[in-house]
Amino acid sequence: MTDLRIGGAERSGIRLFDIFGIEIRLDWSVLIIFALIVYSLGAGLFPQWHESWSVATTWLTAVSAGVIFFASLLAHELSHSLMARRFGIRVPRITLFLFGGMAEIEAEARAPREEFAIAVVGPLMSMALGVGFSFVAGALMGEETLARLAEDPETAMAALSPLATACIWLGSVNMMLAIFNLVPGFPLDGGRVFRALIWWITGDAVRATRLASNAGRAFGWAIVALGFYNVLGLGNLGGLWLILIGWFLTHIARSSYTQMITERSLRSVRLADVMRTRFETVSADTSVERFVEECLLRSSQQLWPVVDDGRHVGTVSWSDVAGLAPEQRRSVTVAELATGLDEAHTLEAGEMATAALRRLGSVGDQPVAVLRDGRVVGLVRAGDILRWTLMHPADGEP
Ligand SMILES: [Zn+2]
Repeated sequence: MTDLRIGGAERSGIRLFDIFGIEIRLDWSVLIIFALIVYSLGAGLFPQWHESWSVATTWLTAVSAGVIFFASLLAHELSHSLMARRFGIRVPRITLFLFGGMAEIEAEARAPREEFAIAVVGPLMSMALGVGFSFVAGALMGEETLARLAEDPETAMAALSPLATACIWLGSVNMMLAIFNLVPGFPLDGGRVFRALIWWITGDAVRATRLASNAGRAFGWAIVALGFYNVLGLGNLGGLWLILIGWFLTHIARSSYTQMITERSLRSVRLADVMRTRFETVSADTSVERFVEECLLRSSQQLWPVVDDGRHVGTVSWSDVAGLAPEQRRSVTVAELATGLDEAHTLEAGEMATAALRRLGSVGDQPVAVLRDGRVVGLVRAGDILRWTLMHPADGEP
């Protein structure tokens, strides 16, 4: 039997804690960016500002600033999540990963006004944090140092306490985050704001999405170009980072557009409407050898429901059979090899197609049995659902 589980709980990274009923997770890729940030502060910026600091003070400040930076990212994502929840949209978890945070907002906003509010609140939070940290830094410095900052910045900076130093950095980095996120390229927050505004004005959500997605791709390519200019023109290897971010942006601009269009055309469609209903079954007492020779090799069907005395008892697939040595095939029946029809391995016909598509994503393009009242009524692969949307494009109405 197969170990593949659909909609698996096998998420990468670790669960940190729950806040406001939202699970906060940390993807392992965060460690890379965290190490980079701490290194650039501890080995670059802070020693440059503070020649007199001890090694311990420098690195302790760098690590603390790095941790607070990730807490700021989390606050940004939480603001999106809580706003989404106000409009009745579920947000089960937030994952921090290589390029920042990602709130899993389960549905698209139903109205442009809601989309606008959900999108704009994130950059506003980052801006508020940026202003807040800068304000605290200013208060810690006192008027004298503040005045000196303009005349003799080097001496003024050198006199700052670790806390004030961290606050200055956190203030500017949060403001930069707010500005970066406000660029009108989907799926950045600014792109969502842009999309919401076009949707608001034209009433055409699909067109708004396409325009915002194109803007996002253009912005991504611009960053890639800037990265290449840095590497090739200026010999600055930091440009590699820009190339990576830019490429990632073009990629998600495209894929989130496809996803949104797919979800729109699948809106209110159930799994029963998109599954394959033409399939054959195999009797439980069939030997695996006969199953292979007479069924599997004579058909393109990959997953076969196993029927025992009129009851559906499981499914058997290519991969199940492949694990069995040829000499064993004669003595083993398909029933012995079958995967049970439990929740982890099947879908329900009444389930929404979009939800099913998300769960199917975890098994690649493997077929899964669809049940109604315990009987297999269809088979479905992620590709089947996408094929269905090609034949039933979404209309422009929201
Ligand atoms: Zn955001």
